[in-house]
Amino acid sequence: MKHRLAESFEAAYLKHFWKFQRCQWENYADDAQHALSVIDKEMFELVTSYRDTFELSGRRGEVFKAIMARELVERHPDVSRLRNRLDLDKQSRYYGGEFSERDLARRIKPDVLELMRTRNHLSQKLGFPSYVALVLSTEEVELESLIALLEQHLQDHLSTARTLVRTHQITLTTSWLSGLDTIGCLDSDFSPIGSIEQFWQRIGFAHLKGTIPLISQEQPTVSGYVGVLSVPDDVRILVRSVDTLGRWLTLFHELGHATAHALNEENGIFTTWTSVYDETMAEVLESIASFMLLDEPNQQSARELKILTGTRCAISGLFEFALWENPSDAERLYVEHFNRLGLEVQDPEVWALDTFRYLDPIYIFNYVIGHQVADRTLKFLNKEYGDEFSKWGDWLKHNYYADGRRRSLREKTAIVGSVV
Ligand SMILES: [Zn+2]
Repeated sequence: MKHRLAESFEAAYLKHFWKFQRCQWENYADDAQHALSVIDKEMFELVTSYRDTFELSGRRGEVFKAIMARELVERHPDVSRLRNRLDLDKQSRYYGGEFSERDLARRIKPDVLELMRTRNHLSQKLGFPSYVALVLSTEEVELESLIALLEQHLQDHLSTARTLVRTHQITLTTSWLSGLDTIGCLDSDFSPIGSIEQFWQRIGFAHLKGTIPLISQEQPTVSGYVGVLSVPDDVRILVRSVDTLGRWLTLFHELGHATAHALNEENGIFTTWTSVYDETMAEVLESIASFMLLDEPNQQSARELKILTGTRCAISGLFEFALWENPSDAERLYVEHFNRLGLEVQDPEVWALDTFRYLDPIYIFNYVIGHQVADRTLKFLNKEYGDEFSKWGDWLKHNYYADGRRRSLREKTAIVGSVV
């Protein structure tokens, strides 16, 4: 009986899951304006109706449990309502349009804090100590080792990052860094599709040619996005025009997401993914492509870009964990953390504008884990297979991609040295 219930939940859940992925893709790629709150509601009702009706042991059971816990919080009507108000293309409707960043930050801050409280409260009702604990548990990442990893990342890279900030006159924006565009130099006749095909050829994925559409679109709020509409057969990439090294890296980062899903050989619930797996696969392929395709000066520039962005992500992650501990002290914590970059924090109130605090909370750390795993994977493959690059592809497919969510990221990366 419990197996039958699990199977019927799996089928119903995946139906909604793929529908959500499709609507989100169409919102980004075609400006379709699907109301995601409707799917939130359907998903919440579905998971609620199956909650506590079955319990499975083994990996499938773990994955079901993680999915249900996450959805019961993220699709909850109170969370859905606040998150949808804060969605970038709706902010002006709810909070007014013609404001300075500071004014907008002041207007949205109560909702950002309310959303944090709601997520925390719902997580506690499910038996987790906090929302942070719920997310990390479902991502299969331990808080203590994660904090240690972020601190270690800063110890290794912060002083170089501070030098680079001065050399390239980098400034802090609410959700990223500006001034990165001057780093590196891309050929004016660079062709994204040609370059991807050349890369696939080398790494032994030539059969993927023509299977992953690449759509180029100037999206002001999205630098790159991968639509996973069905695994493995409908994966699409959206990118802006690739005219800087930063955007080149984004292209191959998105290709990393896409390739991992396109080479997943599982079915059912194991075709879904955790965020930490998804971002790590993106970082791994980005790093391998840089190594294989870029000339030496651009490889050096790519390393500089990764140091700057990785450092910003590590600082943002540490700030975020401190913020969840003490939300009433947000501005002071923001200054304390972001000052470490050696940049003057002009206005700490803008912390509330960073979408990683409300649309993708407890997520930014994934890039740092990804960066570390990418370094280790690159070293490992180089040592094992040298320049026999098709063996790199084989290895990635069999160790990282093929069994999807059947194994955790920690298990998959044990061979190169797990990072958390
Ligand atoms: Zn990504």
